[in-house]
Order: sequence, then structure tokens, then C-alpha cells
Amino acid sequence: MRATVDHDLCIGDAICESICPQVFELGDDGLSYVIADPYPADLQGEVEEAVESCPTDAIAIHQDDADIEDRLLKSIRSK
Ligand code: SF4
Repeated sequence: MRATVDHDLCIGDAICESICPQVFELGDDGLSYVIADPYPADLQGEVEEAVESCPTDAIAIHQDDADIEDRLLKSIRSK
């Protein structure tokens, strides 16, 4: 599975990073980025918790083969 962050909605409060730092990391621009793509299956619970905890509903989960909008893909970066 893949995660994305909608940067039009993210307010940079780092809740996702605190829940699942293996997948989410705040960038220098103050927005959350996805640093594991696709993320490991054993982190599914933490990623779902981050989705539910995000105050602006900015995080989405996608199937590996899903067609993801380019603007959302910009939130993914590999380390
Ligand atoms: S929890 Fe949501 S609003 Fe907060 S940093 Fe993460 S994606 Fe952005």
C-alpha cells in the first residue's frame, strides 16, 4: 500500500510523524512527506491511525497499483 499527503490540506502539526515516523516526516517546508513507498505491510495499523488522527484528513491510503494524482505524488519522497 502507498500513502500520500495532500499538501493543500496539511497544516504541519506532525501528528502523523509522531504516530508513524517510519512513513511520515516533516519537511523543511513544514509539510508532511511520505518516506516509505510503498510502506511495509506491518505498518498498516500505524498508517491507518495516522489517517484517522490527521485533523485535516490530508492523508490517503492507496493500493499499490492505484492511479494517484500527480499533486499527491509530490508528497512522496524516498530516502
Ligand atoms: S497529521 Fe495531517 S495535518 Fe498533521 S502533519 Fe500529518 S498530514 Fe499534515
